[in-house]
Amino acid sequence: MSKPRIHILALGGTIATRPDPSGVMQMGAGADDLVKAVPLLGTLADIEAETVSRVGSHSLSFDQIHALAARIAASKADGVIVTQGTDTLEETAFLLDLLLERDVPVIVTAAMRNPSLTSPDGPGNLLAAVRVACDPWVRAHARALGVMAAMLDEVYAAVDVIKAHPTRLDAFASPQSGPLAALVEDRIVPLGLPVRDAIEATRRKLGKVAGTAKPVALLWMGLDEPGRLMEAMLGASDQLGYGGAVIAAMGGGHIPERLADVAARLASAVPTVVSSRAGGGAMLRQTYGGPTSEIGLRKAGLIWGGRLHPLKARVLLETCLRAGLSRAAIADLFDAWG
Ligand code: GLU
Repeated sequence: MSKPRIHILALGGTIATRPDPSGVMQMGAGADDLVKAVPLLGTLADIEAETVSRVGSHSLSFDQIHALAARIAASKADGVIVTQGTDTLEETAFLLDLLLERDVPVIVTAAMRNPSLTSPDGPGNLLAAVRVACDPWVRAHARALGVMAAMLDEVYAAVDVIKAHPTRLDAFASPQSGPLAALVEDRIVPLGLPVRDAIEATRRKLGKVAGTAKPVALLWMGLDEPGRLMEAMLGASDQLGYGGAVIAAMGGGHIPERLADVAARLASAVPTVVSSRAGGGAMLRQTYGGPTSEIGLRKAGLIWGGRLHPLKARVLLETCLRAGLSRAAIADLFDAWG
């Protein structure tokens, strides 16, 4: 039986770093280097390796991920692996999931420990990602699984995966839904299929996303926040160049009461989505009164981000704005997220 063809696209990140003469890690390795470091890959799959960029994921752009999605869409392979930095993996994987409609597995992976450290995780994660892409259960359910992340022998849905720690080896998790599968010995153990109704409804409404970048401000709420960044956006004729805003609100969707007026004015100026700074998760809609609880904010025209993490809500809002959706269409689309 012929081996599956797996296309590996390398963007950069810790997995692709090399020490410079002073011992500091710099971007250096390309896709071929990553593949060479894991000889076992060749026994599992026919690998095509492509270096897309050599950048830290903290410097990737929306445009670069749109270009990557087009490359993945054009790939003839039986599975696609993206290697990149861990810092924005939770955002890039979700954006790819919004943009791609593929019947083959698409998996993003990375490394927390760089190649100069003892037991770096890059080679193991790449091997795991290829195993996942070649697995019969994963291939049979590729569309139902959507874009996945494979890190430290667990497989996560792009919509739920978050980087939950800056440095630990086990930095990734899906707190809302848990992993989709685990890797053990040489097997993939399925644990569940994601509920994709909201993402599929979103993708239908987005259609084919063309258009240019539309920056979205992320306004993280904290104790006693005075709202001066919102005032600054409103004071500028073009809202400082932001086409929309995400407010990372407290708890089930609350912000300090002193911000009632400025938040309502911001929501009239640009589409403004509220999502929970608790890290996403289902939000309230009709429990608490007061101008800056969920009932008041929703009445004032703020769009509810539902269960999306603020970072994912920001990715989705940028995509909506880029697609040219109206404010009403954006509100309708976010409503599916609970
Ligand atoms: N900040 C870099 C990046 O995201 C390194 C972090 C990493 O890959 O873990 O690419």
